[in-house]
Amino acid sequence: MPGPVSLTKGRRPPGKPDTRRRLVVIGNGMAGARAVEEILARGGAEQFTITMFGDEPYGNYNRIMLSHVLSGEESDADIFLNSLHWYQDNNITLHAGVRVERIDRFTKYVFANNGHVVPYDVLIIATGSQSFMPPMDGLYTPSGSIKPGVFTFRTIDDTRNMVEHAQYEDHYRAVVIGGGLLGLEAARGLQSHGIEVDVVHSGAHLMNAQMGPDGGAILRRSVEALGIRVHTGSRTTAVLGADRVTGVRLRDRPDIACDMVVVAAGIRPNVDLAVLSGLHVERATVVDDQLRVVDEDSIYAVGECVQHRGEVYGLVAPLWEQAAVLADHVTGADTTAAYLGSRTATKLKVAGVEVASMGLTGPERETDEHIVFSEPSRGVFKSIVIRDNKMVGATLLGDSRKVAYLTQAFDKGLPLPEERISLMFDLGGPAEEQGVAELSDDAQVCNCNGVSKKSLVDVVRGGCNTVAGAMDATRAGKGCGSCKLLVKQVVEWAADGSVEEDPAASYYVPGIPLDKASLMAAIRKQGLRSVSAVFAALAPGSAEDAKSKMGLASLMKMMLADQYIDERDARFINDRVHANIQRDGTFSVVPQMKGGVTSVQQLRRIADVAEKHNIPLIKLTGGQRIDLLGVPKEDLPQVWADLDMPSGYAYGKSFRTVKTCVGKDFCRYGTGDSTKLGIEIESQFQGIEAPAKLKLAVSGCPRNCAESLVKDVGVVAVEGGRWEIYVGGAAGAHIRKGDLLASVDDPEKVKVLTGRFMQYYRENANWLERTYSFVPRVGIDHIRAVVVDDAQGLAAGLDAAMQASVDSYVDPWTERDDPLTPGQFRTSLPLTVLPQVPVR
Ligand SMILES: Cc1cc2nc3c(=O)[nH]c(=O)nc-3n(C[C@H](O)[C@H](O)[C@H](O)COP(=O)(O)OP(=O)(O)OC[C@H]3O[C@@H](n4cnc5c(N)ncnc54)[C@H](O)[C@@H]3O)c2cc1C
Ligand code: SF4
Repeated sequence: MPGPVSLTKGRRPPGKPDTRRRLVVIGNGMAGARAVEEILARGGAEQFTITMFGDEPYGNYNRIMLSHVLSGEESDADIFLNSLHWYQDNNITLHAGVRVERIDRFTKYVFANNGHVVPYDVLIIATGSQSFMPPMDGLYTPSGSIKPGVFTFRTIDDTRNMVEHAQYEDHYRAVVIGGGLLGLEAARGLQSHGIEVDVVHSGAHLMNAQMGPDGGAILRRSVEALGIRVHTGSRTTAVLGADRVTGVRLRDRPDIACDMVVVAAGIRPNVDLAVLSGLHVERATVVDDQLRVVDEDSIYAVGECVQHRGEVYGLVAPLWEQAAVLADHVTGADTTAAYLGSRTATKLKVAGVEVASMGLTGPERETDEHIVFSEPSRGVFKSIVIRDNKMVGATLLGDSRKVAYLTQAFDKGLPLPEERISLMFDLGGPAEEQGVAELSDDAQVCNCNGVSKKSLVDVVRGGCNTVAGAMDATRAGKGCGSCKLLVKQVVEWAADGSVEEDPAASYYVPGIPLDKASLMAAIRKQGLRSVSAVFAALAPGSAEDAKSKMGLASLMKMMLADQYIDERDARFINDRVHANIQRDGTFSVVPQMKGGVTSVQQLRRIADVAEKHNIPLIKLTGGQRIDLLGVPKEDLPQVWADLDMPSGYAYGKSFRTVKTCVGKDFCRYGTGDSTKLGIEIESQFQGIEAPAKLKLAVSGCPRNCAESLVKDVGVVAVEGGRWEIYVGGAAGAHIRKGDLLASVDDPEKVKVLTGRFMQYYRENANWLERTYSFVPRVGIDHIRAVVVDDAQGLAAGLDAAMQASVDSYVDPWTERDDPLTPGQFRTSLPLTVLPQVPVR
C-alpha cells in the first residue's frame, strides 16, 4: 500500500489575512467529491479553505465503473473523475490515504490516523459504505485478516486484486456470494478472465430486491445461458481451505470447490466514526432535509453513510441530489433548498443481460394496475405498476428500449397514455419531443453522473450542438450508458432541429477532420511522410493533437512502410520503449518464440538473463511465450542485449503472435502441420502495424487445441489436406467465434489470404477497432468477396502493400545500441503513487 499523499498549492498571497471559513470533508468518494464540486460551482472557493481526507490513496473515481474494470471493458486509469491535479488546481488540500479517526465536535477538530489534527468551521461526513460480510466459518485467518482468496467488491484496490487473482494460471473457479446487482456484475466480470463462476444467493430468486419471482426466473435463465451456475435459496456456511480458499460449504447442498470467493452480499454504512464522535446514528448517520446531522449546527453528512427520513440509499442518483442541496445551504446560495428523498432506478451492467428496474416490483394495493408481458423463450419480461395514473414501478428484462421514457415517467410522475401497452412497446406512445419538452429543468437525465436536463440544455445553448460534444462537456451518458438515448433526445430538442451530425464521429483520429479513406488519400496526394507533416498540412490551424498521434503513426507506418519518418513523440510509451508498461511503472519483456516453439539454447539464455537481472516474475503467456516481468525502463537495453533475441511484440497495436498446437508430427489426431505453418506465418508478418493488436492461431485438426476459432485470424486443418481460415474471433473482454473466410487446400494459400485479409483490415478498420468488431461491421460476405474472390480487383494491391510492410520490418530491440532520443531509456518520475507489485 502506498503511503499517504498530501496535496495543496496556491494559497493566498502572504500578508493578506485569510478570512475564509474552514471546510473539512471526511471521505473522498463519489459523494464527498461531488459535494465539493457543487460547493465550488456556487463560489465556495471564495468562502472556504477546503481540506479533504480520503482513506483511499487516490483522487476520486467512478465506483460504478469498477464492474467494467473487472470485466476488462475499462482500464482503471480511465475511471477517475478527478485526478490528484484537480485538487491542486482548485486549492484543495487533499490527504489521500489518510483516515480520520475521531471528530471533536465541541472544539471542532478532526483527528487523523497520521497524526494530523485539523480545525473546521463546517464539516462534511461522506464516509460511504463497506461490504457486508455475512457470518460464516473460515472467513478469517487466525491473525484476524480475511483469508487469501476471499474478496469484497467495493474499491479500485479490491478490483485490481480480484483481476490479479483471477489471472493466475492455476485459478479456475470462483464462488460469488450474493445474486444481486453487484454479485452478478462480479460474476460476469470474473468470467471474462476465463474463470468458471457459481453464484450462491440466499434469496428465492436473483435480484429479489429489484424484481419479483417471475422476472427472477427469466433472469436466472439468461444468467445461466452465459455459463454462470446459480444456486438460489441457499446460504454459504463456511469458506473451506486451511491457508487459502479451496471451496465453500453450503447449508443444504454439496460443497463447491473454488479458488476464490467474492462476497457481494450487501453493504453497511460506515458509521463507526460518527458513533465514536457522539453523533446521532441509527442505521446510518441521521440527517435532516438540509443534510445537516441531527442536533449539529456545523456538521453535514452526504451519500451512503446517511439516513434521511428513514431511508439509506446505495446508489449514486440520490447522492447527487443530496450534494446539490447541501451545497446550497453551506454556501448560502439557496437556504430554502430541501432534500425530500429520492426515487431510485437501477440497471444491471452485464453485457448480454439487460435489466432495468425502478420502484415497486409488483402491485401492493388492490387498486394498483399491474401490466405484465412475459416471453421466457427470448428472455424478455416487462412489468409496470401504476397507481393513480402514475407509474410507481417497472422491471424490464431482455428489452430495455423503453427504459429512457419509463425512467422519466417514474422520476417525474408524468401523465401516462391511456393505451398502457404503449408504455412497453412502440405503438405510438408519447412522441419523443413531447416527452422531452415536458421534462422539468432539474429532471436528472443521467443518473450515474448526476446530469440534469438543464445542464445539457445549457451546454447546447452555449454553442455545443453535437450529441458527443454535449456528452463530453457534461459526462452525461458516460456511466452505465442506459440514458444515452435520452441524452440524444434532449440535445436534439434543445438544439431545436439544428443538432449537427457529430462530424468527429467519422474522423479516423480526433485532431484531423477526415475519415480514413480521405485521410489516406490526402497523405498520398501531398506526399506527407511524418505525423508532424500531417498535422501541419491537414489539421485545423496546423495544431498538433496528442490524442491523434498514435493512430496517425500507425496508419502512416502501414501505408508508407520504410518511407515513413518516425517521430518518437508520436508514440505511446509501450511503442517508445518496445515493452509493455506494468502497473508499478516497470516493463515486461517478451522475446520472440515463433509458433510457441523454443529451444534449449533459448531457454538457457532466458534463464540466465532472468537470474542476472533479478527478474521478479517469469510467466508463460497465453500466446505461448515467456514473459519477463518487472524490468525497470533503464535496464531494458541491457536485458535485450543479454537475451539477444528479437522482440516478441507483446505490446503495441500490431501483429503479435501465432499460437499453434502440437500438430501432425506428434499428435495422434493431427491432420495438418500446424506448428510449421504457424511459424511461417509469424516469420512473415512479424511486427506489422495494425489499428489494433492481432493474435493468430493454427490448429492441426478440428479439436482446435490452439483455440483458432477465437482469434483475429485462426486456421484449422481439416480432413483431406484442407485448411479453414476464420476471421474476427475473440476470447477476451468480448467473446466471438470467428467467421469462416475460406477453405483452401494449400498452406501457401493460407498465408496469402491471411496477409490479404490483414491488409484489408489495416486499410479499412477504425483506429483501435479489433477484428471482432470490424468483421461483423463490414460483413463476412463482403470481406470474402474482396479478399478471396477479388470481386473489386483489389487483391494484387493488397498483397503488394502487405509485402512492402513485410520487407521494411526491423527488429525494434536493435535500438538498444542506439537510442533514438537521449531519454528513451531513462527512468522518469511517476506522476501518481504507484502500487507495489509483489515479487514471486
Ligand atoms: C462495483 C460497484 C458497482 C456499482 N454500480 C452502481 C450503479 O450501477 N449505479 C449506482 O447508482 N450505484 C452503483 N454503485 C454504488 C455507488 O458506487 C455508491 O452509491 C457511491 O459510490 C456512494 O458514494 P459515497 O461517497 O457515499 O461512498 P464511497 O464512494 O464509498 O466513498 C466513501 C469514501 O470515504 C472513505 N472513507 C470512509 N471512512 C473514512 C474515514 N474515516 N476517513 C477518511 N476516508 C474515509 C472511503 O474509503 C471511500 O473512499 C456501485 C458500487 C460498486 C462498488
Ligand atoms: S488440434 Fe488436433 S492436432 Fe492439434 S493438438 Fe489438438 S488434437 Fe492434436
